[in-house]
Amino acid sequence: MKILLFGCNGQLGWELQRALSLLGEVVALGTDSVRNPGGMCGDFTQLDGLSDTIRAVHPTAIINAAAYTAVDRAQSEPDLAHTINALAPAVLAAQANALGAWLVHYSTDYVFDGSGDTPWTEDDAVRPLNVYGHSKWEGDRAVAGTPKHLILRTSWVYSSRGANFARTMLQLASQRDTLSVISDQHGAPTSAELLADTTAHALRSALAQPALAGTYHCAAAGETSWHGYAQHVIARATAMGWHFKVQAEQVRAIPSSSYPSAAKRPLNSRLNTTKLQTTFGLTMPPWQPGVDRMLAEITPPT
Ligand code: NDP
Repeated sequence: MKILLFGCNGQLGWELQRALSLLGEVVALGTDSVRNPGGMCGDFTQLDGLSDTIRAVHPTAIINAAAYTAVDRAQSEPDLAHTINALAPAVLAAQANALGAWLVHYSTDYVFDGSGDTPWTEDDAVRPLNVYGHSKWEGDRAVAGTPKHLILRTSWVYSSRGANFARTMLQLASQRDTLSVISDQHGAPTSAELLADTTAHALRSALAQPALAGTYHCAAAGETSWHGYAQHVIARATAMGWHFKVQAEQVRAIPSSSYPSAAKRPLNSRLNTTKLQTTFGLTMPPWQPGVDRMLAEITPPT
């Protein structure tokens, strides 16, 4: 089986290169893949190039880990966010449809408006609060238009590679004298590893049972706030031998209203993963062990 992976150098794309390799040959493309010898187009701003590439590879499954993920910057670059998060996935969907290929795509808790405190289900109404969330929702709708699709909607992604909240907190707690972190936004930190492994399981099942196509919420179990997440990261890294200027218990809790940002963010990012777990026979692990594992990978030995 041939699998065409886009966004291979992102947090998730990197882990997918590993997880998908058990299922077949993985053709992994990044933004600048065209520059490689015999290179193919993995740039989501080149829509014709994407179509040509998919037709040339003729994959059994297309996996889209590429996305415009700069949430605040998207407010001032809506056209680029729309192209990468909505128009390009629509091209992938059209080509998947034409080839009879599977299309796996990733969505975000940011399609919801964050109201209430109940974990969102796949059937809940979406109402994005910002440009990024809106562009992702447009992409979801395009992907859902092809019959053989899997959309995994996730939250608060991290890995030992790439930029993410946990790594930012490690840096800030080392450099600053004080650290204030939002405590009224709630969700579950989810590792790129977990997402990638879930993808491989789900795709394998879907290949055998096409009726499993659909949208699934995929996040680690449990919940925390950004403040709780920051405290956990600093406490665990301290236990592993890191030294910080700000200790875990000194991290101040602040409301979102005290931290103005270009993009408004949902307060409730909790995702109900029951559908994913029951459909594919999976058990989502708690969020903490994955974070600790990531810290062990990036924390220098003492
Ligand atoms: P990253 O930001 O780590 O990776 C995004 C990838 O998209 C990068 O490889 C980047 O390439 C690529 N990309 C950006 N612009 C283009 C372009 N013009 N053409 C092709 N590729 C491009 O994201 P994650 O791995 O964290 O996210 C994976 C998925 O999960 C995305 O769909 C995202 O929306 C979703 N998600 C992420 C969350 C998070 O907290 N990060 C939360 C919820 C959902 P390059 O490396 O060359 O820049």
